Amino acid sequence: MKLVGFLFYNNVMQINYGKCGIGAIKLNLTSIGKCSECKEDAVIELKYAKKKLCSKCFSDFFVRRVRRTVEEFKMFKATDRIAVALSGGKDSVALLHSLKLAFPETEIHAFYINLGIKYYSDHLQEKVIKLCENLKVPLEIYNLMEEEEYTIDDFLMTKYKSKMCSVCGTIKRNIFTKLSIKVGANILATGHNLDDTVSTMMSAFMNGDFESIRRLKPVIPPLLPGHPKKVKPLVTTPEIEDLYYVYLNKLPVQECNCPHGEITPIKGVKSLIDKLEEEQPDVKFRLFSVFRRQLIPLIEKNSIQKEEITITSCKICGMPSSSEICAKCRRVNELKEIKEKKHNIDIEVLSIEELGSNVILLDVRTKEEHIISSLPNSINIPQDEISTRWKELKPYRKTHKILVFCNSGRKSYSVALKLRNLGFKAYNLKNGLSSIQNTLT
Ligand code: SF4
Ligand code: ZN
Repeated sequence: MKLVGFLFYNNVMQINYGKCGIGAIKLNLTSIGKCSECKEDAVIELKYAKKKLCSKCFSDFFVRRVRRTVEEFKMFKATDRIAVALSGGKDSVALLHSLKLAFPETEIHAFYINLGIKYYSDHLQEKVIKLCENLKVPLEIYNLMEEEEYTIDDFLMTKYKSKMCSVCGTIKRNIFTKLSIKVGANILATGHNLDDTVSTMMSAFMNGDFESIRRLKPVIPPLLPGHPKKVKPLVTTPEIEDLYYVYLNKLPVQECNCPHGEITPIKGVKSLIDKLEEEQPDVKFRLFSVFRRQLIPLIEKNSIQKEEITITSCKICGMPSSSEICAKCRRVNELKEIKEKKHNIDIEVLSIEELGSNVILLDVRTKEEHIISSLPNSINIPQDEISTRWKELKPYRKTHKILVFCNSGRKSYSVALKLRNLGFKAYNLKNGLSSIQNTLT
């Protein structure tokens, strides 16, 4: 059982996903009675369905629901060519695996975009290669640096530095569409789950943003002729079940967080819906049904009178756009202008000395690791406590540089980025303590 990157404590497995707005997800691995289907040991309880299922029956249930969702929403036919957008995270991994089982005869291609995110993108690439080899699915890897000469990390130099996920999403959508057209896929499947859909719909509803709700439909017809139809086969699957599915089927999956993802606890609408779910286990399904069956048809009926937005081809990349130049190309152009001026983001250093005087050393490893050995006079705030304890560093914000370190440089890179966004002069110790072992106390 491989648990690198997971926290495992008292039979409860916990995994932290750095994805926007999502905090820790807990998986309980203990037996919880007998399986409602086969009477083996059950490991997962689906309260909304009043079922307890063993690993095998849960996986069968999961695949059946994917098949049913595809059929109910008429997402594709057996003769279509499907492209699956892979990120290496739990949702897209569960999507590819379950689609392959649900539709063994259908032609499926997978795409992965290497976004050039340090300590992250190469790791995910290894996982998706392994997954596609196991499933015998052709995989196309698009390396952003090689193809377009920039990375997502480069956007830290731009005004989008506090909206990295938004710019990243715009770029990924554009490239996945382009790749689907390239392989002649008429369907592009993405891993949006029930929780993503319902919480985004609720937020949009609360902001009166009805057009966004409309765009959250499980099936979006092609925006331009020859472009793929976009489908979400996991739209009826609760998020935690993707994680169970991936774990119980031992699929290769993301084992570390994106340094640009939020590290703040789950909050806002998402946490509200999760709380509601404790009393009403089927609330996410009910909300989805109300939006889909009642609100979206109402919005669509009403929008007929309004002026429809015309979609054309972007003058630069040819992808769908509501203006001459699409959102992706506009952002990339802004980046290129800045890149010409600045060379690199000097966030990583190889030694403490490089920073000169007035340096605070911040150890983001666990309390136990810090006690066993650390750099002299370092402060310890473990990475998973940064979101609540970063204020302890406030007195140094204007006066000191903060050198963040961990064992490998991976966790500390992510924390240094967060601190920069909070206005600190933060740096990462490249390759972590392993590079300066002899200075340890
Ligand atoms: Fe996901 Fe990272 Fe891109 Fe945000 S920046 S969308 S967390 S890959
Ligand atoms: Zn464009």
